[in-house]
Formats: sequence, C-alpha cells, structure tokens
Amino acid sequence: MNYEPIDIPFNHRHTCWLCGEPSAQMLDIPARATNTKIFNHEPISVPICAECQSFPVQPNCSSIWQHKDYVKQRLMKVYAKHLGIGLNWTKQELADADFEGRIFEGFSRSAWMMYEIANERVRYVGWDLMIAGSAIGYDDSAGFEYDGVQFASQEACMNYYCAAQGLNTTLFEAVLNIVGYSRFSYALKISQINRKARHFEVVRIIDEIEQQELDSQEIQADKSAHENHYKLEPIDMGEAMAETQAIEWALENDIRTLEQINLAEDDFFDAFAYLGGVQAFQFYNGLQLYLAARADDAWIQKFDLNRDTWK
Ligand SMILES: [Zn+2]
Repeated sequence: MNYEPIDIPFNHRHTCWLCGEPSAQMLDIPARATNTKIFNHEPISVPICAECQSFPVQPNCSSIWQHKDYVKQRLMKVYAKHLGIGLNWTKQELADADFEGRIFEGFSRSAWMMYEIANERVRYVGWDLMIAGSAIGYDDSAGFEYDGVQFASQEACMNYYCAAQGLNTTLFEAVLNIVGYSRFSYALKISQINRKARHFEVVRIIDEIEQQELDSQEIQADKSAHENHYKLEPIDMGEAMAETQAIEWALENDIRTLEQINLAEDDFFDAFAYLGGVQAFQFYNGLQLYLAARADDAWIQKFDLNRDTWK
C-alpha cells in the first residue's frame, strides 16, 4: 500500500496527531491487513506518539477518525484515575485540601498536573488532515460526544465516567435504559448522587425513576388528550358566531342546553368580562343560538363541526 504522509504545519512538527504529545513515529493507516474496501479514505501516514502507537488499529476500523476515537477511549481507560481528579475535584478544592490528611491519601501535589495532562490529551483535536494541500474526506459517522469529548461509543462514554468517578455501572446503565442517551447528563447526575448506594438502594432508585417516567408519560398523554378534546371550530349561526372560546367554556362547565346557558348567564359574563360588554354579548348570543340549534339532532349531524367533541 502507498501511504501518503499528511501535511504537518510548522508548529505541529513532531506532534502526535491523536493526542498532542511529542511524536517520534508514523502511523500507517489502514493497517496492512485491513480490507481497504471498508476504509473511507486513501492510505495515509500520520505522526504518532509511542503510547498511541501501542493501541493497534482495530480490524473493523474504517477511518483515521474512528481510530482516533478508539485511541482516546484507550487513553481514558489508562488515565481514568487522573481524569477522575478533575471530575471529582476543582483545582481550588485540591489546593485547599490538606494532603497530609487521610482523605487525600494517595494524592500527591502533582495530582492536578496529572489530571491536566491526561485531560489535554483526551480533548486534543488534531489539525485538519491534508495531503499536499488538499483535504481528505471528513468522517462524522463515528462516536458520541459528551461535554466536549468525543467517545468511540455511548457505552464507552458511560464506562469512562464509571471508571473515573467510581460510579455504579448497574445504576447508570439502568437509568440510561429508562431515559435514553439523549438524557445522558440526567443519568450521570443520578449516578453521581448515588455513588455510594447499596444494592437494595440501587434497586429502589431504579424503580422510582421508572415510575417517574411512567407518570410523566401519562401526564403527557393526558395533556394531548385534553388538547385534542378541544380542537373546536367556530360555527356561523347567522346572527352571531358561536366562538370557540365560548363553546370551550360551555364544555368545561357542562352546559349543554339553552336552558342551562340562560341559568348560567352571570357566570358567562364574569368569565368573558375581559372582552368588554359588546363582544361578550356577541359571544353569549352566538353560544345561545348554537346550544338552541343543538337541540335538533338533524342539525347537529348536518352543521355541527364540533359534534364529536360533545360526545
Ligand atoms: Zn499520542
């Protein structure tokens, strides 16, 4: 295979394209044994550091970007502890902490620096890939982005947080199954809050979240049923219009006949006082005519566009 070396900007000489560390070697990709038919771009050669080079290109890899996600995933695994420092503490908290204290046993003064180095490496975005001045195709099919970091997959992202923050994988996974990856932050929060939960507590939390989701789905369903219920049409009664707001008011107050609306006249004018006298009266008159007409089933069948709503 003929591997084209990528263009390297002057300020990136000897820089690993994957993680930004000093590079000493070149990565030829796709690997020689790879079926080039599944590969998205021409064979290229990119500068790489020794550690990134130690993660072999996977047989099903289809582009340099996919391989980059894979390498980041491996780096996150290796540096989970260091990355966890930044996820679990702020720089100030670490500075304020008493490192002689038992709580911080195992941490050293360089903890934050270790975190920063690891964090920069996993967040590093290489320069645009070009060969002799022309760009090679961009592949955006791969990965899952969260909090500015590209992960090889949704699962990789979850595993990363579980490893870095010592979260309960069972809980995290179960919450994600219930609420979906679109609410990853929520699942993460739940897992962080309940980091120390014991098994029976985890089971209870999962039950609660499941119930919450069912409840909110029901509320949602109720809401849309209610909205559909009142998809009303104004009805032209000749002398006046039966307006949708007036019909809705009648429905909500269970007023179905002319007799009933006449008895509820005061309530009606109270409810529609905001319209002013003249318009409120027109609304009232329209509703009277409409309810009177509704005494006749034949009229309803022929003219009442809201007949289904009244059933
Ligand atoms: Zn590297």
